[in-house]
Formats: sequence, structure tokens, C-alpha cells
Amino acid sequence: MDLTYDADSERFRGELRDFILRHRDLAPKSQGVMGGRATREMLDWQKLLLERGYAARSIPRKYGGHGATPNLIEAIILGEEFARSGVSSGVSGPGVDMLVPTLLEHGSEEQKLRFVGPTLRGELSWCQGYSEPGSGSDLASLQTSGTSDGSDLIVNGQKVWTSSAHLADMMFALVRTEANTKRHVGISYVLIPMDSAGVEVHPLRTMTGASEFNQVYLSDVRVPQTNIVGQRGEGWQIAHTTLKHERQVAGNPTELEATLRSLITLMENETRNGVRAIDQSALRERLLDLQARVLSLKCHAMRLLTCDLRGESPGVAGLVVKLQACELMHQMAALALDAMGDLGILYHGSKYERAEGTWQSEYMTWIGFIIAGGTAQIQKNIIAERGLRLPREPRPEAGG
Ligand SMILES: Cc1cc2nc3c(=O)[nH]c(=O)nc-3n(C[C@H](O)[C@H](O)[C@H](O)COP(=O)(O)OP(=O)(O)OC[C@H]3O[C@@H](n4cnc5c(N)ncnc54)[C@H](O)[C@@H]3O)c2cc1C
Repeated sequence: MDLTYDADSERFRGELRDFILRHRDLAPKSQGVMGGRATREMLDWQKLLLERGYAARSIPRKYGGHGATPNLIEAIILGEEFARSGVSSGVSGPGVDMLVPTLLEHGSEEQKLRFVGPTLRGELSWCQGYSEPGSGSDLASLQTSGTSDGSDLIVNGQKVWTSSAHLADMMFALVRTEANTKRHVGISYVLIPMDSAGVEVHPLRTMTGASEFNQVYLSDVRVPQTNIVGQRGEGWQIAHTTLKHERQVAGNPTELEATLRSLITLMENETRNGVRAIDQSALRERLLDLQARVLSLKCHAMRLLTCDLRGESPGVAGLVVKLQACELMHQMAALALDAMGDLGILYHGSKYERAEGTWQSEYMTWIGFIIAGGTAQIQKNIIAERGLRLPREPRPEAGG
């Protein structure tokens, strides 16, 4: 395996580094909007990134992207350099990260022209309407229904755990449009404007005190059938395309390395009874274990990149990244809290808080990501069944 980048790639990296260095003061402090409206600062930053080709680089110009020829190495370098510099890589969230690639693959020309550009520019924000009460891991059991009324669908049902639904302009939702079919057929992938009559958003307050999740009630919501992505009743595969992109959001090795570096710095500075955290054997052993795992995931990412460049399927190797990366991020945050000792339990604005409470919020955030987009247990089932071809567990429809 050749781990070096060629001269063109290094030239691209140099230009990007130079850009980040000269413009970093214009970048918003936070990474972006994980759903919800982008700030003016973020909109301006995103505009600059799109112009320079440092966001949506290979998305065609007619859909609002930069229009460069797709280049996997450049995409990796972009991820590496923004993560390394700690500078925002632009608008992120379910719209840009999940819906846009899904529309590019499955959407009609009209849908691509209408939705991709405004989403990339940060003008249109999205939420994901998949989960329902009783239909999370077993997503195919979803009950939200859509019936035809002329050129419209009339949608009724309830979604839950809908992140940022209270801030979103649109929802990409799974709706059962054909009754009396097998569980995985008859589901449509529908784009629903959140200001439609009959959409009600109720916040859910979590143990952190935040209300990022919502329940969304849909009562006789009228949606044009032109807002169905792909064929009506054939949305299950499209839903999986979105899930694939959701799972790829976690697992950037550069971000893992940056977190590891911050953890090492923290452990070099925190002391307990006069001894640095990094010199305490129990904590140090955990750090070394995590360091080895971060390095192995980095090598793993290079292996996946090699497969991509050769046009080969990575098979089971591609399925382990979300599970590994989310657990690693969570375990690094857990070690940081333990290294801080009593200070590790402080939250929200204490004057003794370290790094503005980032480690505490990361600890909670990554528990969430271990669950979202398919729980760790579901990921293990996928790895076992689709990756390792082990026997499938009994399915409800088979009467097991
Ligand atoms: C931070 C966060 C953000 C989210 N955002 C959204 C969003 O924007 N939109 C959206 O639609 N949903 C969202 N979700 C919901 C998420 O997709 C579901 O929580 C997840 O799919 C699990 O479903 P559930 O909560 O109903 O748990 P359940 O499916 O009821 O699972 C409960 C437990 O049983 C285990 N389990 C279930 N089935 C199996 C099995 N076959 N084998 C082994 N173990 C099993 C699970 O792993 C879990 O531990 C979000 C969740 C989180 C945590």
C-alpha cells in the first residue's frame, strides 16, 4: 500500500492550507448547523467555500455545486485539512450530508434543480422523518400512511426523535403509501414542507436539558406527489441510500486523531494529588488502547479509500466504520471526564469547567450517535449478516 500523495494532490493541499490560513477569520466559530437555520456568517462562509470549490466540490454547477471532476483524494484532503485546522468546513446536517447525495442518486431532474442548490447554500434546512413510536430499529414496521387524492398525497401519522424538526423548512420522510404489501415494499420517500397545514411539532426535552428532538404529528397533510423521490412505493432502497450517507458522517479519521491529540494535551495538564493524568497507569493504559484503535481506524480508512479508487466493494470492511468511530469518540470523551476527576461532572457554565464543557457535551453527543442511524446492536447484526454472511436472526414477517 502506497501511503504517499502524488504531486497534484500535495499542490491541492497546499492551496487549501493557504486558503484556510488567509480566510480563517471569516469562518464561523462552530462547525455549522446540524439542522436548523444557518447564521448570516455561515451563509457567507458557505458561499465562499462553494465559489472556491472547497464545498460541494464535485456536485454539478447546474445543481449549485462547484462542478469539479469527482476526485476521491481531493475529498479526503478537504476532510483532513478542515479537521486539522479546526476551521468550519461549511454547512452540515441532514440536508447537505444525507439528502443531497440521495437526491443526486435517486431524485428527478426537477427535484435536483429545486432542492439541491438551496440546501447546499444553507438556505433550506431539513429534518429526517424516519422513526416512529414502535418503529426505530424495526423501521419497516412504520405506520405513517399516504393516500392518493388526485395529484396529492394525504399523509397521516406520527414521527419521533426528529432532530431539529422545530427549525427545519422541510422533512424527508418515509410514508407507507401502498397497503397490504410486504413490510419493505409500499413505502415512499416523501419531501414534506414543514409549514404545510396539519404539521405539528412538539419538542422532547432530554436529560441534558436541551430540546433538540421532537415529535412530529402529521394530520391530513397534503403533499404533491411530485415530492415523492423515486417511484411511489419503492422508497425502501432510497431510505437506505440516506442511511448509508448518515453512517458515513461519523468516522473521519482526521477528526478522531484531532480528538486524540486534545485528549493527550488534557491528560498532560490535569493532575490528581500532584500526578499528571497521563502518568497514572490506569488512565495511561486506556489512552494507549484508544491511541492504537484510532491508528488502526486510520489505516482502515486508507484501505477503504484504496478499494474506492480501484472501484472495488469493501464488503464487511465498509460496515464497521460507524460502529467503531462512534464508540471510539465516546470512549475518548469518557477518558477525558475520568482524567478530570471531580471536574469531569461539571456541566454548563461552571468557572472550573475545562474546554468550555466540550468534553461533557461530546460524551453525551456520542452516546446519541451510537444510537442514531441504527444502534450499535443493529450495526453488529448488519456486520454479522450482510458482512460475514452469518445466519439471519428470525424476522417478524417470517413468524419467528
Ligand atoms: C441523537 C439521536 C438523533 C436522532 N435523530 C433522528 C432523526 O432526526 N430522525 C429520525 O427519524 N430518528 C432519529 N433518531 C432515532 C433513532 O434512529 C432511533 O433511536 C434508533 O433507530 C433506535 O430506535 P428506537 O429508539 O426506537 O429503539 P428500539 O428500536 O426500540 O431499540 C431498543 C433497544 O433494543 C435494541 N434492539 C432492537 N432491535 C434489535 C435487534 N434486532 N437485535 C439486537 N438488538 C436490538 C436496540 O439496539 C436498542 O438498544 C435519533 C436518535 C438519536 C439518539
